[in-house]
Amino acid sequence: GRPSAGPHLSPRMTAVFGGIFGLATLTSLIALLIQGVPVRDERALVAAGPAGSAAGAEDAAKAASGAPEVKAKKRTPLPGPWRVSELAKDPSVITASDVMDRRSFIVALADKGVPKAQIYRIMKAFDGLRKFDRCGRKDRFTVAMDRSTRRVRAFEYEVSASEIYQAREDAAGLLAGTTLDMKIAEEEVATAFYVGKDLTSAYQSVGLEPGVLDVIDDALSGRMSTESFEEGSTVRLIALEETALGMFSRYKKVIALEYRPADPAGKAVRIYDFKGQEARGYFDERGRQPYAGGWRSPVPGAPVTSKFNPKRMHPVLKKIMPHNGTDFGAPTGTPVYAAYRGVVDWVGPAGPSGNLVTVAHPNGITTGYAHLSRYAPGIKSGMKVGTHQLVGYVGSTGRSTGPHLHFTAKKDGKYFDAETLQLDGERVMPGVDRAAFAEAKEALDKRLDAIPLPEPPPEPVKPEAAEPSAPPPAAAGSDATVSTAPQVGPSGPAEPEAQPPEGAGDDEGEFIQGP
Ligand SMILES: [Zn+2]
Repeated sequence: GRPSAGPHLSPRMTAVFGGIFGLATLTSLIALLIQGVPVRDERALVAAGPAGSAAGAEDAAKAASGAPEVKAKKRTPLPGPWRVSELAKDPSVITASDVMDRRSFIVALADKGVPKAQIYRIMKAFDGLRKFDRCGRKDRFTVAMDRSTRRVRAFEYEVSASEIYQAREDAAGLLAGTTLDMKIAEEEVATAFYVGKDLTSAYQSVGLEPGVLDVIDDALSGRMSTESFEEGSTVRLIALEETALGMFSRYKKVIALEYRPADPAGKAVRIYDFKGQEARGYFDERGRQPYAGGWRSPVPGAPVTSKFNPKRMHPVLKKIMPHNGTDFGAPTGTPVYAAYRGVVDWVGPAGPSGNLVTVAHPNGITTGYAHLSRYAPGIKSGMKVGTHQLVGYVGSTGRSTGPHLHFTAKKDGKYFDAETLQLDGERVMPGVDRAAFAEAKEALDKRLDAIPLPEPPPEPVKPEAAEPSAPPPAAAGSDATVSTAPQVGPSGPAEPEAQPPEGAGDDEGEFIQGP
């Protein structure tokens, strides 16, 4: 069901609410709502899982029966150029098709029985047009060969629906490469969708195509991500799509978008694509842009629930103990990202820190990500990570009273306030572009305003009944969970001789203590 703000707080919410009531600013309220609803991945699981309830099954049934809710955009396919696949009808020809999937061009074609000399003949046919020394994993090729001699009659290489290379033998037996004219066109789409339990069905229900979340994430980069879209929120979107032969090919970019949180009192976020004399990229209402190349929040959009504090009264141990990190409140399972590029230094349990990942950055700073519920798949010590690369998921392992990320920064062996790294630092609109931006923004605002807000889908029969992903109230951050907490020493990291970073995350969660 839709999360409601105000007096209808669950026991868990009440516990959370009590602790920070004094700070109950608008920001905190939004934060609580974020915490109160499962993140997208979990919602998807809820919808798909066996416990997914009648509602999930109904949705699936609707989707299968060509649901009236899925408004596929009307598109008219245009007549296209000759394609190699047409030779499949010719009995004197054998055709084969495959995706590159990490193989070299030569290996991929040889795997389909194309003789070496013919592979070189194909490469020569594309001389000056395209080299095949760097192939994308998803690139697809189709080859047509004479059944008896294996001489190549035609060949096609497809990078995307709009970028296709083709070579066809002419009457003289000459193989020459060309780029197919796929009648590429661009068109703006303006629509809105309501975020339900599953984000994919949310955008599909208004006729948006796969790939739309990628361009939305680009536009929101450094601010928030589609992963953190909460159930009950709405998105209004103006995007530029590209078609090939009249059919959808890909989204090129977002032109403007609005994200409205579920809470009607919450502030909507608007993002605008803008190119001025100096400014370029995505800006918010005030003409601000995240500073690319800088430090990023490890949990975008999550509020700081406890600051770095060298003289803090420890909420669990009841004595003065420094809080050597910054806490971000977020539900279990929320993705945690590297704040900056670096090399993974530690992956494993580390006493009070619980499941910990640390990353050593080029400038001598090491960051730590504590209390994780899970690690990013495949992550290990010594591995390079980029800024904003997934390292794990929020949890409450180790000495912790509820799900949150305890984020630390260390230089020369000493902890310092990670917030001084200016996470998600911003650039302001250069003076020379301010007037033009204001004008562009006004025009885009009018267009966003004109998109009707979507209605929430009809409520299921028992909206509050099935919430299998919600933890039981007792586990949601009460001190009771602490009794099991302090484990001493690592219990089995990948390399037994390695020692976990000492004292990296001695924790708390003071924001969830009762009043
Ligand atoms: Zn902490």
